[in-house]
Amino acid sequence: MTPVLNAIKVPFHRASLGEEEIEAVSEVLRSGWLTMGAKTFEFERRFAEYIGVKYAIAVSSCTAALHLSLEAIELQVGDEVLLPTTTFTATAEVVAYFGAKPVFVDIDPITMNMSVADAKNRVTSRTRAIIPVHFAGQPCDMSSLRDLADNHELHVVEDAAHALPSTYKGHRVGTLSELTAFSFYATKTLTTGEGGMITTNNDAFAKRMQMVRLHGISRGAWNRDGAGGSWRYEVQEAGYKYNLTDLQSAIGLVQLAKCNEMSCKRQRIAEEYNRAFAKLNLLQTPEVLPDRQSSWHLYVLRLYLDRLRIGRDRFIEELGQRGIGASVHFIPLHLQPYYQKQFGYKFGDYPQAEHEYSRCISLPIYPGMSDEEVDYVVHVVSDIAQQWTR
Ligand SMILES: *Cc1c(COP(=O)(O)O)cnc(C)c1O
Repeated sequence: MTPVLNAIKVPFHRASLGEEEIEAVSEVLRSGWLTMGAKTFEFERRFAEYIGVKYAIAVSSCTAALHLSLEAIELQVGDEVLLPTTTFTATAEVVAYFGAKPVFVDIDPITMNMSVADAKNRVTSRTRAIIPVHFAGQPCDMSSLRDLADNHELHVVEDAAHALPSTYKGHRVGTLSELTAFSFYATKTLTTGEGGMITTNNDAFAKRMQMVRLHGISRGAWNRDGAGGSWRYEVQEAGYKYNLTDLQSAIGLVQLAKCNEMSCKRQRIAEEYNRAFAKLNLLQTPEVLPDRQSSWHLYVLRLYLDRLRIGRDRFIEELGQRGIGASVHFIPLHLQPYYQKQFGYKFGDYPQAEHEYSRCISLPIYPGMSDEEVDYVVHVVSDIAQQWTR
């Protein structure tokens, strides 16, 4: 390998931020209004427009968005909620908040999304809702999930933390179900550092969530302290402190304006990876089904373990030694101590999820990657795979 290539370091993630974001935050700082206010309402309006939905409600995280969504459907103690075991703990922890049970579902071997067939088998009289997670940005099989939900009168709350912008049968994720939760966490496709959004077309849900995200107060500080506003307010509920600040929303507005452009860059990187890795016959490249478009939040490669003399952990170590950051999405939740202790899950319960977990690697994919960096990742991954061929 040439010394030039050796000098390249490709972190797993770098946020795509420019001078416009810095300028937008400075403008908010200079305005003197730091918390939720005009910028946040503008961000909500623009986001709703972009998705094509009636309401977008800005909150402090996707976890908060999921929590408020389950609150809106009035999840109760003892209820059951279906969700994939291959997800981040946030998807399941919000169910536990209610004293309800996260019922894990095994995954589909192609998309790594929740298997609808397995979900069907796990429906009981206590099942109240499904939380599909659009893994890596590829939408779930929403038509089949819709049928399953309708047949059993279940709510659907989508975890779209990875799915901005993603489409299913020509419809943008965020318009497909009664409630959809997005994440603006530092590593997500649109970031505000921390942040989240709920989209819905339901008037009653929107009204309630707008109130409970800020203490359950029927009139917020922007009204209370604004010129001509009144000091009087009413507490309608024991609400939460889940509001997004104008500092964050200012970043969100800039990021939203370049969302399509950033998505195209991710798509191009994914295509380049796919082309290069598929021909090795040693690595399984991610496959997006023809009726959907992925945001390509993650690029998840899977090792054909029977064709290689190297395992997943060692592969990641080798990448690290050559300056490439990689990750694993996700350690299945049924293997985590909390879910085992609290709900009795154990190793062996979800064979497909365990199999994919044993061989999956998430590679760097973000709009700020240079062509040189993409080429370097292609070169190193191919090199390691070929070096360790059986
Ligand atoms: C990142 C993530 C979340 C949580 O998002 P936050 O905004 O950090 O709360 C939820 N679900 C999935 C699948 C995620 O990847």
